[in-house]
Amino acid sequence: MSINTKYIFVTGGVTSSLGKGIISASLAKLLQARGFTVTIQKLDPYINVDPGTLNPYEHGECYVTDDGAETDLDLGHYERFLNVPTSQANNVTTGRIYQNVIEKERKGEYLGKTVQVIPHITDEIKNRIKILGKTGQYQFVITEIGGTVGDIESLPYIEAVRQLKWEMGNNCMVIHLTLLPYLSTSGELKTKPTQHSVKLLLEYGVQPDVLVCRSEHPINQDIRRKIALFCNVEPNAVIEALDASTIYQVPLLMEKEKLDVIVLKKLGIEAAGELELTKWKGFLDKLHNPKSEVKIGLIGKYVELKDAYKSIAEAFIHAGVTNECKVNLEWIHSEDITEENIKQKLEGLKGILVAPGFGTRGIEGKIAAIKYARENKIPFLGICLGMQCAVIEFARNVLGLKDAHSREMNPATSSPVIDLLENQKTISHMGGTMRLGSYKCAVEEGTLAYSAYGKALVNERHRHRYEFNDEYKKQFVEAGMVLSGINPNGGLVEIIEVPNHPFFMGVQFHPEYKSTVEKPHPLFVSFVKATLG
Ligand code: GLN
Repeated sequence: MSINTKYIFVTGGVTSSLGKGIISASLAKLLQARGFTVTIQKLDPYINVDPGTLNPYEHGECYVTDDGAETDLDLGHYERFLNVPTSQANNVTTGRIYQNVIEKERKGEYLGKTVQVIPHITDEIKNRIKILGKTGQYQFVITEIGGTVGDIESLPYIEAVRQLKWEMGNNCMVIHLTLLPYLSTSGELKTKPTQHSVKLLLEYGVQPDVLVCRSEHPINQDIRRKIALFCNVEPNAVIEALDASTIYQVPLLMEKEKLDVIVLKKLGIEAAGELELTKWKGFLDKLHNPKSEVKIGLIGKYVELKDAYKSIAEAFIHAGVTNECKVNLEWIHSEDITEENIKQKLEGLKGILVAPGFGTRGIEGKIAAIKYARENKIPFLGICLGMQCAVIEFARNVLGLKDAHSREMNPATSSPVIDLLENQKTISHMGGTMRLGSYKCAVEEGTLAYSAYGKALVNERHRHRYEFNDEYKKQFVEAGMVLSGINPNGGLVEIIEVPNHPFFMGVQFHPEYKSTVEKPHPLFVSFVKATLG
């Protein structure tokens, strides 16, 4: 392996939710824009083996990679910024670390030794960090440590960083993200919480090299010097991170603060290309100057927590930019929709998206919204459960199968148009047992899907247990439904369409996971285009 991978750790202090993911992705973007190969990894200190079993209210969306890993939503940001796919190796939790160590212990691999947090857990963490570097694909591995410094849970991770800093010397550095609170009564930015959180890091033996300070107000030179003095960093390594109007602005804010230049200098890299951000800036320019606006309803059951549908919201931003229009999402709770109030609830929407989901809550509202979209010729896109609901709606109202349902919602239905696959029936474990990750989909020529993709074979990511029930294929096709996307190995239905409609499509997969700034997803682009009339 000829390349000498550099490791950058991003820790967080003072409070959670400072945006370590966006800062990591922005730094990665700048390094990539200078011609380097970069990947980003997230270490999550919770005990779940992965976030797949977490309620979206707890942790927001579960993001799925090509290789079928159920991961933290920050990986979505990494892909959207870098346009490079992530994998299982890019997200590791404490649960997975312990699971591995305990499995090794059971196999006798520790040869009778007492298995301990240090060195066994920390060694496992260090291995997971170095795995991406060892692929030889990346010049930089940025590792974001979840949680806040001082949390009991993150201690083994900080200890692993301390050891790696010692082992790797110049090939490794630490960026600490903190908050400068503003006291409006005295009109001051306060540095004490930052001083304390760096002190805490120092107690654990880790000296940060760069401090990125989140702030609502610009940070003047005096404050930078003060922080630098108390925290043993150079004044130019105290970086201001102001609140941004969009996450996509943050790489440019970091460029202005020269974060990339400071990082390259710290790591002793002299030969770096010029920053090439033309495409990125072109995207931002269109984002800030839309020629039109359009209102699209997002119908789901976690609408109070917008993070639950993060990738869908971002895919609409990308597709809006391609159409030079601003998509205003109206988040509508499916439980609030009834046959009686539907007209008033969906009034004025130029498009309707029915979101993915699990379980019965709000299902009838989703089905009602789809009927409304189909009958009133409002552009419709259904994703995963949204597609399944479109199949149920068609079965009930076009095929006349009044009792039609998914077996997930009604195991006793006489018309299970959505059903479990045979190989899912025997599964009793919840974690990692769905149909997950990338599968091929053959797209039928002459369909709406084909005109969007412009090709006959695509790969899309899945996360579900239930499927379109093959036994009903013929009935649906005879009644006019178009099955425009089929899995070439086995024939599962992946895309459905209703013709004689401006845009009516349901997809069993999740196109939103693959939409990036550089490559907005074709189905979202076509859907938004249809909403513009
Ligand atoms: N609950 C459905 C299934 O398991 C749909 C899942 C989803 O929308 N991600 O098949």
